[in-house]
Amino acid sequence: MPARRTVPFVDLGWQTARIRAEADAAIARVIDTSGFILGDAADAFERAFASYCEVEHCLGVGNGTDALELAFEAAGVGAGAEVILPANTFAATAEAVARVGATPVLVDCTDDFLISVEGVADALTPRTRAVAAVHLYGQAAPVEALRAVVGEDILILEDAAQSQGARRNGEMTGGLGDVAATSFYPGKNLGAFGDAGAVMTDDAALADSVRKLRNHGGIARYEHSLLGRNSRLDGIQAAVLSAKLEHLDEWNQLRRDAAAVYGELLDGDERVQLPVVADGNEHVFHLYVVRVADRERVLAGLTEAGIGAGIHYPKPIHLLPAFRFLAQGEGRFPRAERLATEIVSLPMYPGITLDDQRYVAETLRSLL
Ligand SMILES: *Cc1c(COP(=O)(O)O)cnc(C)c1O
Repeated sequence: MPARRTVPFVDLGWQTARIRAEADAAIARVIDTSGFILGDAADAFERAFASYCEVEHCLGVGNGTDALELAFEAAGVGAGAEVILPANTFAATAEAVARVGATPVLVDCTDDFLISVEGVADALTPRTRAVAAVHLYGQAAPVEALRAVVGEDILILEDAAQSQGARRNGEMTGGLGDVAATSFYPGKNLGAFGDAGAVMTDDAALADSVRKLRNHGGIARYEHSLLGRNSRLDGIQAAVLSAKLEHLDEWNQLRRDAAAVYGELLDGDERVQLPVVADGNEHVFHLYVVRVADRERVLAGLTEAGIGAGIHYPKPIHLLPAFRFLAQGEGRFPRAERLATEIVSLPMYPGITLDDQRYVAETLRSLL
């Protein structure tokens, strides 16, 4: 066993230190102007993030799950509709589909952890209204290949919660489909100081609906043209996000550098399968996920050695109790099921040191 140290799963303190002075000043401005809900800080962030994602509209909302729901709702995806999504995703993707009254139709993934285009082709029915392309772990799903099989009439929604800054064939995620939803949960590549999220689109009518739906169905006070809800971006969160957005590309590069370091340290050991980057993708390594045989023992050993490792996610959607109503039993999505037993997410964040990564790699090897 290598000499013991501790390596957290993620270290948000490193990022905070780099924007602290600027964030403090920006938060003070929000407080001084009482711009707590939406307001100038949110307007500024929405403009900056729309431009970053190369889309026309960005609407700040309460969190990533709301962003997914509002995007579906604004696009008219609801009762009677089927929405195709990967079985291996965070529960929120499927929750949003079910919460708008649509039926989640799961499909398997490929070895790069992304949605299987063949699976989508097989799952299409006359009721299919949308496909949720989840850019899992920080690399883009093959949106152009999905478009080729679903055609122009089916909505492609990007779940871009894990992919801020990731590109596919040179184009920014968040602008690859018809509409995108993202999350600024603190641990995401672009994280707020609390819950926050956004919807991105080039479609002005869809953007207008989200703008209303997030604010009790109207833009002006007491004007309720739609049956809406309350899911708005806070000024303080927007101020923090604007400060962090300036650093996002640099921080994503540090993640890629750290991924390359793991690649070197673990290369050639056939007992560990390294993450596969699909052709055309610029990965932003929200998570660095490897595959090992005896995963439970490896995970316990890493934890024991003071290393914050995780599993994303322990069970595919159809095996979660909340989704028992889908009546899709074990064996239905063999690749997603198998990957769920083999995956381990290693510590990954801007600011992780070479010594930390050496310790993680040495400990991992010693456990195999
Ligand atoms: C984080 C995440 C969400 C949900 O975001 P919240 O802000 O936590 O609601 C949705 N989908 C994926 C893939 C995520 O990683």
